[in-house]
Amino acid sequence: MEIPFNKTYFTGKELEYIENVLNTGHVSGDGVYTKKVKKILTSILNVENIFMTTSCTHAIEMAVMLADIKRGDEVILPSFTFPSTANAVILRGGTPVFAEIKVKDINMDMEDVFNKITRKTKAVIPTHYGGTGCDMDALSNMLHEEDIWTIEDAAQGFFSKYKDKPLGTLGNFGCYSFHGTKNYISGEGGGLIINGSDPEMIERAHIIHQKGTNRTKFINGKVDKYSWVGEGSSYAPSDILMAVLYAQIESAEHIRINRKKIHNLYSNAFNDYINKGILLSISNEPDNWQSNYHLFYMVFDDEYKKEKFIKVMGERGISVYTHYVPLHMSEMGMKLGYREKDLPKTSHVGRTLVRLPMYTSMSEEECLYVIENAVDILERF
Ligand SMILES: *Cc1c(COP(=O)(O)O)cnc(C)c1O
Repeated sequence: MEIPFNKTYFTGKELEYIENVLNTGHVSGDGVYTKKVKKILTSILNVENIFMTTSCTHAIEMAVMLADIKRGDEVILPSFTFPSTANAVILRGGTPVFAEIKVKDINMDMEDVFNKITRKTKAVIPTHYGGTGCDMDALSNMLHEEDIWTIEDAAQGFFSKYKDKPLGTLGNFGCYSFHGTKNYISGEGGGLIINGSDPEMIERAHIIHQKGTNRTKFINGKVDKYSWVGEGSSYAPSDILMAVLYAQIESAEHIRINRKKIHNLYSNAFNDYINKGILLSISNEPDNWQSNYHLFYMVFDDEYKKEKFIKVMGERGISVYTHYVPLHMSEMGMKLGYREKDLPKTSHVGRTLVRLPMYTSMSEEECLYVIENAVDILERF
């Protein structure tokens, strides 16, 4: 049996919705399906302000602009994340400061964040790894009296919850990805949540989103012509992409439940190897939180076992992958002055984490085949 790492899932409604968009003739941003998506999202997430974007990268860039990050400002984020999280800061002239993760859940270690706060810290960007939330209570208690923004990188976290609140709605800003590799997809795409109801902030967001113009005011009939009023870029996705996303969001619960089945089979099969000391951690879902089961990871106790595991699984037709090169160990991280030893836990995870095949349409038979082979290899260590 050949088991791919990922398979794109479509609900079957996408073509019909794309056709609807083509029939309207309005294929640029802010069309019928953008409105439908915004409406369903504000209801699911119980938020007032969501901006659909061309990617999560762009949502994070917008948030960093809105937080007014400038040269000399520091922004704390995990090293174990996608380069976009740090690039958004660099593009505004700010300095990314990398914090450690916890090996237990691969999420940011809030104690390390605390140690890294200085007078220059202007924002913290927690990345919710694999669809499981960071410890947001600890973070908000810590930032309670500080003038520091929280920007959630919830790229992998759409339709997950921390306690009873959706990821992406806990900070000042929340950023989602609907990239083709995520659970809920438009191809390329993202969303930005802005919490709170500061009208000035919302107006600035509209201007940034609309290429530096007051086009939103024009659409709403408040001015009779729109023109250049400030800084901005082109962040609105085509309505064709929002048609795809609408189909996916309608099936959000179905997608989550299918992935949960796979997650639970994996989880039951591999938990024992933590007690045996071969694995340091595996994906888990904390009690009373809700994961979207974006991925399933295992962290080995050493790099040799990880290499061997990937190789033998590959020989048996099963694609398993590592994940990020931690940002502090990357070529760019080195240029920023970081060294591998600066963040030992992150460095270890970067070298020993693997992700198992995980996709919405995965059958129980495929999943059991992965488990059977993985257990066979683990038993020989
Ligand atoms: C996928 C991902 C991004 C980038 O999302 P795009 O929509 O591709 O720009 C950023 N951060 C994290 C943690 C991601 O997983």
